[in-house]
Amino acid sequence: MLDDKVQSIYETVVRRNPGELEFHQAVREVLGSIGPVLSKHPELTRMKLVERICEPERQIIFRVPWQDDHGEVHINRGFRVEANSALGPYKGGLRFHPTVNLGIVKFLGFEQTFKNALTGLPIGGGKGGSDFDPKGRSDDEVMRFCQSFMTELYRHLGEYTDVPAGDIGVGQREIGYLFGQYKRITNRYEAGVLTGKAIPYGGSHVRTEATGYGLVFFVEEMLRTRGETLDGRTCVVSGSGNVAIYAIEKAMQLGARVVACSDSSGFVVDEDGLDVDLLKQIKEVDRSRIDQYVKHRSRARFTPDGSIWTVPCDVALPCATQNEITGTDAQVLVRSGCTVVAEGANMPTTEDGVRTFHDAGVALGPAKAANAGGVATSALEMQQNASRDNWTFEHTEQRLAGIMRDIHTLCYETADEYGTPGNYVNGANIAGFLTVAEAMAGLGLI
Ligand code: NAP
Repeated sequence: MLDDKVQSIYETVVRRNPGELEFHQAVREVLGSIGPVLSKHPELTRMKLVERICEPERQIIFRVPWQDDHGEVHINRGFRVEANSALGPYKGGLRFHPTVNLGIVKFLGFEQTFKNALTGLPIGGGKGGSDFDPKGRSDDEVMRFCQSFMTELYRHLGEYTDVPAGDIGVGQREIGYLFGQYKRITNRYEAGVLTGKAIPYGGSHVRTEATGYGLVFFVEEMLRTRGETLDGRTCVVSGSGNVAIYAIEKAMQLGARVVACSDSSGFVVDEDGLDVDLLKQIKEVDRSRIDQYVKHRSRARFTPDGSIWTVPCDVALPCATQNEITGTDAQVLVRSGCTVVAEGANMPTTEDGVRTFHDAGVALGPAKAANAGGVATSALEMQQNASRDNWTFEHTEQRLAGIMRDIHTLCYETADEYGTPGNYVNGANIAGFLTVAEAMAGLGLI
């Protein structure tokens, strides 16, 4: 149930964005938290701040023609939603996946705006991508696609305008091809226009690891409030992409036993603890499927169907995609004794799932707080690019850890202040919303 003050705003969002279910869901979640803020700050309602935040500043859709290795022509669709620039240039990743459409990109851009605000860094919110599927494509095909994609997108980008990064299906390889084409078209070595670059051409140490590491730093803070640590805990991590692999790595460094991970073909369980080097070889080097893991580890088993959330754990880290933990999955996790869930993926828990966790007293770290380490380190990459500097791994990781601690404190204290102690979802939504709304109010009606 939404507060009266926001119900009609939500209805307008649904009417103006028909069929965009994930966007509706993301808006509903934020509106569900901010009723008390609007009661305390009636001026925000007068200025129609909520309505303005729900309407992206700009939505770009474009054709991406490209040729495969056999000369066949393909047409994909490219998107960039420039959601909000009150705090800085639009900032948020690009997703290449067949499920990408305007509603998905809009939901991601909306979430990104609040996430970026929580980092305390000067970055606005945006998101983009394409329905292109890089899976099974050769390096040359991926390069041709990226070059065609950038040939249209470049005119909307700039280090002071819009700064994309990676997301699902877009890693360092794709960012390299995109940056190369941007540089070629503009004749500018504008390193700060894209983040997630490789080290030799302006990348930052820790950016590859940042979302996964940051997620685990956030979990450590959540556990600390309960007088616990990750040491000796059993974890399950969904996905086996960028976020998942580095969440697994950091959790294991901190003494956790991570026993399961997945991809869209199924999940593996390794009770001895996952071998992260093997995972990197399979996923980052061979670009292969997760079932290959069990060929190298005799006690591991692969399950092609069913839910990874049936694997018992103390800590669950969803790191694959949106709505991957349903209400039923959440019930199974609660029954198996899981007490902490932190979202590496964006909006991986359905509304039913969120309710189930809250009702059961499970601590739930929402994506916009828990996975903000990636974009925060992207902002650190922009800082290094702007000052033509290159920080060490240790220094950058310390900065990341400090930022994640601060985000945790902000969410925790805000939840408390608004009468819902321990509710990180409310804490993150309220703190993120207030930061963006105050900046927008100061900038006038633009
Ligand atoms: P990635 O490297 O492409 O990995 C995605 C992983 O999730 C893969 O294992 C993939 O399996 C799995 N997956 C994707 N779609 C799926 C689906 N529909 N069903 C089942 N599994 C699916 O992407 P990533 O960068 O790790 O991103 C993962 C999540 O984290 C996304 O929600 C993203 O928005 C979020 N995130 C990423 C960053 C970042 O810095 N990269 C930052 C913040 C949040 P397949 O290979 O089989 O498809």
